[in-house]
Parts: sequence; structure tokens; C-alpha cells
Amino acid sequence: MAAGDLIEIPARRGKAVRLKKGQRIKMINTHGTQVVDTWAFNADDLHEFMSMEHTRPHIGKFIPAVGDIMYTNKRRPILTFVEDSSPGIHDTIIAACDRYRYKFLGVEGYHDNCTDNLFAGMKELGLTPPEVPSPLNMWMNIPVKPDHSLSFEPTVSKPGDYVVLRAEMDVVMAFSACPQDILPINGVGLKPVEAHFQVLG
Ligand SMILES: [Zn+2]
Repeated sequence: MAAGDLIEIPARRGKAVRLKKGQRIKMINTHGTQVVDTWAFNADDLHEFMSMEHTRPHIGKFIPAVGDIMYTNKRRPILTFVEDSSPGIHDTIIAACDRYRYKFLGVEGYHDNCTDNLFAGMKELGLTPPEVPSPLNMWMNIPVKPDHSLSFEPTVSKPGDYVVLRAEMDVVMAFSACPQDILPINGVGLKPVEAHFQVLG
């Protein structure tokens, strides 16, 4: 893929891409309803990766916004939020869905999931992540109420909303168009769809 190409993250599937330090990536919520689990790994050492639990104390909030820097598990800057055309509702609390999550939700047999999509997306680049870091769940709407309770709500973004991130080191980014179709996080229609990204150079 060349810089500028519009790359599809297929519905229910994963995709990965390499970025050089200083390159920017535009993630596009093509239909507005889709949650995209997002990971970033140090390209030179996959054991260092974007960490939600290390980022939250540095930015002092649950949800990053334009100007905020995302940190690794070694507390080094890895990505910066440069633009966000959406209402800015994203999630840093919820783990990537996995086969066990769907079992809890009553699914019998296999269900597509973001954890397997992370491995599949990175495998296309010949890489295996050493673990599954907590993702930055782009456009996922998990309001925290005053009594500290959580709920799983539909996205509030519009079709075509985008986020631009800048790489602060050479990175491998991975994405999963979340296949959640039991809870309404991907819209009340419970229909996971595709999203896109574009490396801006
Ligand atoms: Zn998921």
C-alpha cells in the first residue's frame, strides 16, 4: 500500500500498517456506526506498545482529545491526536473482545473477535504481537455515570467522521472493525461494517 491509498478495514476483520516516525494516519468511520479497536507497537520492539493505563495518568482523563499524546508501557510518546472531526467520544477502558467475551454473552461456537483480528492483521505483515494490549477503542461510547457504573452505548459519530494520529516513533498500527453484534456498540442495528484508513505521509 502506498501513502494516500484508502485502505479498507473489512467488516469484522483486522488490518495492520507500518508508519514511520512523523507520518500521520487518518482513520475514517465510513458509516459512522463502527467501533475500531486500535493498537500501536514500537516497530523495533513489539514488547513496547501504546498503553491505555499508562496514557490515562499522563493526559489526566479517560478519553484522549486533539493535542493529547498517547504513551507506551515504557512511558514514551507513541502517537499524538492531531485531528478529530467526530464528537470526541472514544474509549480506553474496555478490553478487546475475544472468544471468551462472546461465550459470556451466550454465543455458542466461534464468534469473530478483535483479539483474533489483531493477530490476523499483524500476520499479514509477518508479525506476531507478544500480547494483546488494551486497545484504544476509537468511537466506542462507554459513558461512566456519577455512580461509577458503565454502559455500552451506540457510537455518536457521523458517517465519514475521522481521526488523524501522528506517529511519534516508527510504529506498527493494527485495527479491528469490532464484530460486536450482541451489544449495540456498533449501532442499534447490531450490524458491524467496514471502516477505512489512509496514511497521509
Ligand atoms: Zn471487538
